[in-house]
Amino acid sequence: MPHVTYLGFPRIGRRRELKRALEAYWKGDASSADLLATAATLRQRHWQLTRDAGADSVPVNDFALYDHVLDAAVAVDAIPARYRALHDSDPLAGYFAMARGHQDARHDLHALEMTKWFDTNYHYIVPELHAGQVFRANPAKVVAEYREAVAAGHRARPVLLGPVTFLLLSKTVDGSHALGLLDALLPAWLGLVDALVAAGADWIQVDEPALVLDLDAGTRDAFRRTYDTLAAHSPAKVLLATYFGGLEGNLGLAVSLPVAGLHVDLARAPGQLDAVLDALPSGRVLSAGLVDGRNVWLSDPATLLPRLETLRARVADERLWLAPSCSLLHVPVDAAEEKQLPGDIAHWLSFARQKIGELRLYADATRGARDATAALTRQHEVVAARLASADVVRPDVRARVRGLTPQSSQRRSGYAHRAAVQRERFGLPPLPTTTIGSFPQTHELRSARAAHRAGKLGDAEYDALLREEVRRAVRFQEEAGLDVLVHGEPERNDMVEYFGEQLDGYAFTKNGWVQSYGSRCVKPPIIYGDVARPAAMTVAWTRYAQSLTQRPMKGMLTGPVTMLQWSFVRDDLPRAEVCRQIALALRDEVHDLERAGIGIVQVDEPALREGLPLRRADWQAYLDWAVDAFRITAGGTSDATQVHTHMCYSEFNDIIEAVAAMDADVISIETSRSRMELLDAFTRFQYHNGIGPGVYDIHSPRVPAEAEMAELVARALQVLAPGQLWINPDCGLKTRGWKEVGEALRGMVAVARAARARL
Ligand code: GLN
Ligand code: ZN
Repeated sequence: MPHVTYLGFPRIGRRRELKRALEAYWKGDASSADLLATAATLRQRHWQLTRDAGADSVPVNDFALYDHVLDAAVAVDAIPARYRALHDSDPLAGYFAMARGHQDARHDLHALEMTKWFDTNYHYIVPELHAGQVFRANPAKVVAEYREAVAAGHRARPVLLGPVTFLLLSKTVDGSHALGLLDALLPAWLGLVDALVAAGADWIQVDEPALVLDLDAGTRDAFRRTYDTLAAHSPAKVLLATYFGGLEGNLGLAVSLPVAGLHVDLARAPGQLDAVLDALPSGRVLSAGLVDGRNVWLSDPATLLPRLETLRARVADERLWLAPSCSLLHVPVDAAEEKQLPGDIAHWLSFARQKIGELRLYADATRGARDATAALTRQHEVVAARLASADVVRPDVRARVRGLTPQSSQRRSGYAHRAAVQRERFGLPPLPTTTIGSFPQTHELRSARAAHRAGKLGDAEYDALLREEVRRAVRFQEEAGLDVLVHGEPERNDMVEYFGEQLDGYAFTKNGWVQSYGSRCVKPPIIYGDVARPAAMTVAWTRYAQSLTQRPMKGMLTGPVTMLQWSFVRDDLPRAEVCRQIALALRDEVHDLERAGIGIVQVDEPALREGLPLRRADWQAYLDWAVDAFRITAGGTSDATQVHTHMCYSEFNDIIEAVAAMDADVISIETSRSRMELLDAFTRFQYHNGIGPGVYDIHSPRVPAEAEMAELVARALQVLAPGQLWINPDCGLKTRGWKEVGEALRGMVAVARAARARL
């Protein structure tokens, strides 16, 4: 019978126990011993849970207090010099200083950078290296966790981040090439392997997701050197784990590496199955990533059983492992917690625990176990019922998407004409000022929302409070002298959840938490059915806000790509199609706003860039449908309606054509930290539409000096036409306090006025 295992498990806990323990420790309400005890309990609980669910072996060292890439850096002593003293005196404090910064009487340490782990919404801490870096094995954590699991009676497989992926994910402070550090890194990294072998480890899982990326010759060579060295050095049996996509052109390389086993992703890349089977050397273990580790749907046995038979026809059972496609870090713990979901949705879901249970059934079915076979037959019926459910397939929505024509993605006229019409309509001064949408969400506002949700605050009271917030935001903006106002978004908890809750086809879990970074978790909505908009979503608030002022009020929507990207998406329709459904729902909202007299509408797309596929060859297809979805949303609006978009955290160089094709009348972007460098892409492209490069870094409570903002405006004016430039902060202000926002925005307006006077 095939062996059932998994590459990693969510560490945050089904009730976010780790989050609570971390935050209590950071606040000083709990000791390090308390924190470490909670962490140990969670590890034990999760190993036990997966064993009960049917896993034959468990990974260890997939757990991290904050982040597994930071752990990998610490394991080879890649601790930047500025944290060293603190780390030497208190390793836990040093670890968290790297993760989140540290300020006390003696230290003022910034955190290391953080960025997205491949194309997931998980953020890792970027290791910071330099030429001449000295590495040293620091195997204490991985060995201790291995011993813990063995002592608890588990068949345990330590996980290490592979040296090549580790270096590719790192940054160097001196511009040297991180892969140039491979020879320095390997001895230390092999020291970890040695320590594990000495502790009794038999298999070691080495994660090299970089093998699913486009690789240059130097990187391919680094892979060869790493695994040749490892094979010559150690008797450890290595499971080389690849995930988040297919090996494609790297398949030959992956199978040529002298390791005992290979894990491949057959959920994202089922098409690679035959090629992998053809290329796999005899005697090698194949870990088949059969069920989707990135999504929440119960698998369809009608699809997977034939795949499993193909595998078994070519790989003997004792060499075949069944696993989720990637670590289960990216899904919540247990779908059995979700009892309140409408209809049958709860039955359709498979979170981490269920996925291991599914693999158990598939494995048991291979030996003809009757109960497993019967359970899989039932599972197929459930999936089939889901795909045919009237909540999932709505003929009206399907017909509307089918009815889209190239015309649907068009504004009535080109930008130049629209700009003239809009200039006439709004009569804005040059260098108009605006904000990105949200205003501070105060403690009172958040607790009122929680009380309202819990049924402890009546609708009327809550509504009155929100209206007061809108009035305050409008009054504030008028006093500060802003030109285009916003209502401030006090009614929104989250920019995706707020819209998802008002759309058909979206469901929300109670405990479906997924780690975003450190103690931060998100609860992604689940798009389970065709998306439609039963009623207007934002019109009442926007109209109310407009009634309070003579100045133009900007309506505020979350764009279709972001609505998709930050959700779990159904797996029975192409993402492009789901995105078009959302775009049509939002288009109706844009038109309703327009009819309500709102002249400016902003459609936020902060997630557009992060949706880019891992392989360059797939970029264009994605950008085509993503841009088209935005254009459908904005399509058909009058020339006099000014459509804005907002994209933060973005690097534009390689997507500027797509951004230009969105053809928003105005785009606001985040530029204050990079000191306007991000504008280069726009100027090189000769982008003519309006741009608001952020002049106020809202990620920090610091109030920028007027001189700093003036300097940024001056830089922007060096490369942009004055008629093009808008003045605004980097992003929404909801995480900030009113006092600092007041000072910063008054300063921003003063800077804009001074710059206008000099034009
Ligand atoms: N309109 C949203 C806000 O101001 C935009 C948030 C974002 O870009 N992440 O909060
Ligand atoms: Zn933003």
